[in-house]
Amino acid sequence: MSGAPTEEPVSGLSREATARTYQVRTFGCQMNVHDSERMAGMLEDAGYVPADGDRADVVVFNTCAVRENADNKLYGNLGILAPVKAANPGMQIAVGGCLAQKDRETILKKAPWVDAVFGTHNVGALPALLERARHNDEAQLEILESLDVFPSTLPTKRDSVYAGWVSISVGCNNTCTFCIVPALRGKEKDRRPGDILAEVQALVDDGAIEVTLLGQNVNSYGVEFGDRQAFSKLLRACGDIEGLERVRFTSPHPAAFTDDVIDAMAETPNVMPQLHMPLQSGSDGILKAMKRSYRSTKFLGILDKVRDKIPHAAISTDIIVGFPGETEEDFQATLDVVEKSRFATAFTFQYSKRPGTPAADLPDQLPKAVVQERFERLTALQDRIAAEENKKQLGRRVEVMVTAQSGRKAEETHRLSGRSRDQRLVHFSVPAGAPAPRPGDLVTVTITDAGAFHLIADPAPGEYSLRRSRAGDAWDRSQAESCGVPAPGTGDGRKGVSLGMPSLPVRTS
Ligand code: SF4
Repeated sequence: MSGAPTEEPVSGLSREATARTYQVRTFGCQMNVHDSERMAGMLEDAGYVPADGDRADVVVFNTCAVRENADNKLYGNLGILAPVKAANPGMQIAVGGCLAQKDRETILKKAPWVDAVFGTHNVGALPALLERARHNDEAQLEILESLDVFPSTLPTKRDSVYAGWVSISVGCNNTCTFCIVPALRGKEKDRRPGDILAEVQALVDDGAIEVTLLGQNVNSYGVEFGDRQAFSKLLRACGDIEGLERVRFTSPHPAAFTDDVIDAMAETPNVMPQLHMPLQSGSDGILKAMKRSYRSTKFLGILDKVRDKIPHAAISTDIIVGFPGETEEDFQATLDVVEKSRFATAFTFQYSKRPGTPAADLPDQLPKAVVQERFERLTALQDRIAAEENKKQLGRRVEVMVTAQSGRKAEETHRLSGRSRDQRLVHFSVPAGAPAPRPGDLVTVTITDAGAFHLIADPAPGEYSLRRSRAGDAWDRSQAESCGVPAPGTGDGRKGVSLGMPSLPVRTS
């Protein structure tokens, strides 16, 4: 969707021809990716259009503060843009996100050619700050200490028509010592259930069939309004939304992961058999130093309960290697928990000092070589487990929601890609003569091969079935809108018009 304005021409030029272009460059986590969707939505609401290529009238950096060299990266990027801006009067640069919330006026001191700096609590101010900077010919800085408007009420330009993110809370009341979120995103703020469900319904009405509920600590949802079971109730309520086929959530915290949530997952058919459960460390001593209030036994107990109620659940995790003070024994404890947990995937990180976090000031920071060596041992173990777990999928019939992105080798293999119900990445081919799916459609295929990071399905004709979905129709409509061509079946009598889409590969043998 271009979102280009369609108003009357002004002075002989259409507004479209004069509309300013924008680009949002995103760093960091899923929360930032979703915030960037909001920034794009607000800019388009204000009449900007997405830039085609690298040249944009407005460049917005949505920054992340979790890596040690995040600021070097930002200032490096800003430095590259300085001469571009000097050569293009009227160009504007804005910096938002976690690093802006943290560094504030330092950004304008170090990069005085920046036009606007805004924080994590006032994403909605972006168009106004750009306008004010242009009007006053002066850089604008606006950082709020707490949330002004819940960001989900802002216009959003979503990256995908078939799946959407819905924030249920922002901020976090925990104090994990490696994490910058409490400092930069503040205390947890929960949205009212009615507002969340209305946003989910609106996404479904627009064609989405998958929704991921998002929060820094998603299962503590309800803490602000005093309902300890609010998250499980929300999952069950999502189960009543007609047309919503897949519900996911991220990220939960093991300490607050209660049985009512496991029951709601198991008993709500559209909640997917998949769980991302951050371990961080398998050593109880390190968990204590991290101020993570669960211990390894509790963590493993949660996995047992989940697998007892949802036998084929795929469980993924986050692990930090080399936290300050981690001994070889501590690290072995992590390897032991990983061995027992049988994670489908793990996001593994080498600890690096994150300025502004308590752990950055701890003694016993480990030498890089030690961290690297442990990291390699951990990833080797996890890769072996992931491959073994994926091998268990061989011969299984799996429902895959087709995505617009294909695998790296798609050109040679002619395979399409998608996600199974348990979130595994599946590359599949369409048998010769069989109908090709659109992104958002659902295919059921038999798994024929497996690696550590993906499954392969090259099904025989009888082992492939396609279910065209509302999400696939929404994809068609979005493609038609962006090409200015009517979508098939939109009632204009011109069904079957080519949408200018790349043709989808179909196996020829
Ligand atoms: S629970 Fe998550 S977001 Fe909250 S402080 Fe810990 S790591 Fe950060």
